[in-house]
Amino acid sequence: MLTTNPFDPADRNFDQDDVIRQLPGEAACGHVRYSTTGESGLRNVQPLYADLESGGFAITHNGNISNSLTLRRDLVKHGSIFQSTSDTETIIHLVATSSYKTLLDKVIDALKQVEGAYSLVCLTSQGMIGCRDPLGIRPLVMGKMGPEGDQATILASETVALDVIGAEFVRQVDPGELIVVNDEGIASHRPFAPHAPRPCIFEHVYFSRPDSIVDGQSVYSVRKEIGAELARENPVEADLVIPVPDSGTPAAIGYAQQSGIPFELGIIRSHYVGRTFIQPGDRVRHLGVKLKHNANRALIDGKRVVLIDDSIVRGTTSTKIVEMMREAGATEVHMRIASPPTTHSCFYGVDTPERDKLLASSRNVEEMRQFIEADSLAFLSIDGLYRALGEDGRREQNPQRCDACFSGDYPTSLTDKDSRGKIAELPLLAERVT
Ligand code: AMP
Repeated sequence: MLTTNPFDPADRNFDQDDVIRQLPGEAACGHVRYSTTGESGLRNVQPLYADLESGGFAITHNGNISNSLTLRRDLVKHGSIFQSTSDTETIIHLVATSSYKTLLDKVIDALKQVEGAYSLVCLTSQGMIGCRDPLGIRPLVMGKMGPEGDQATILASETVALDVIGAEFVRQVDPGELIVVNDEGIASHRPFAPHAPRPCIFEHVYFSRPDSIVDGQSVYSVRKEIGAELARENPVEADLVIPVPDSGTPAAIGYAQQSGIPFELGIIRSHYVGRTFIQPGDRVRHLGVKLKHNANRALIDGKRVVLIDDSIVRGTTSTKIVEMMREAGATEVHMRIASPPTTHSCFYGVDTPERDKLLASSRNVEEMRQFIEADSLAFLSIDGLYRALGEDGRREQNPQRCDACFSGDYPTSLTDKDSRGKIAELPLLAERVT
């Protein structure tokens, strides 16, 4: 068990070789999840751990459970004592209280009660269990590493995690598939009724790293194709195509190649902001975007520019970057967004604000253009996004992805959502316990 504080930059476990070397055992699980339910406090840091009847049980979870508060109320009523405000802990209590006999059956029983998105890796006294929710909203891949006959199995959200440690990609875990890895080998179970998969479309737009393969597709190639679709749908006369770093870069390359307008780095990102040795203190925090990005004035001055970003959430980034281009002498600033307007909050693990804070929830495209003060603004259509993914570009007839952030069509029940479209809060807990 790690005892240092992962939120303290001076106390970072994984930078310290001796910390890692002291850890006993031959298996591990970990997570870098940001919280989408519960606060970002120490008590919610994963893996969450419990001693169950079957032995130790550690769980890591990518996604978000959309009925966790409802389940939690019921569990608490029947005596469960929660240690965190994380939705993930609900799964532990459901496993602990299940009346099934074997651990595997208890886990399956628990998962059949939760709604929403989950890719899980659990370390148990009886082996490692990996699982992807029936719709496959969040990704999960399997890799292997080590000499033939003594190979380790690795489960991770993204293939890039396998690349980094030098492991070989084996395959993706299928939606609704549960994998058990133990001394006897690897066993696959499919405990859920078959569903048409709805993997998250935003993984391809922003969430996944461009060097990952998600659902069998290179994220980088998809993003370039998204940029090309954007250029076909929303052309504009301009001198330069400029990415908003880094999230807009692959789409900007695709836009430039399709339109024939030169791709240039008109915004330079500081190498140093974000590193622990130059953390902006409160005094300089107001510099905000400017501290991280600066206009390449020598390039921009006197030019008509097309800015490409992957998405607009609150509109803060676009507003500041349009202003930055004008200050650097751009004669026209056109904004092109490599996804449809984000009109709805995500309840499946992408950290988007409440709906009323989303710029597109209450404004049409012209009103958004006025808000960010661009000369023109256009978004990729939902059908264009599906086409870029190589799928039927008639989304209404055949929604193959979870695209709720763009369409409001949530593929699972949202039991915890209240009548105002917000996820209910936990009333009984103190703000933070460390
Ligand atoms: P905003 O400034 O609020 O409009 O946010 C838009 C910027 O945030 C874009 O540059 C996106 O690349 C980035 N972005 C989009 N979604 C997320 C997210 N869930 N978490 C953090 N950044 C995001």
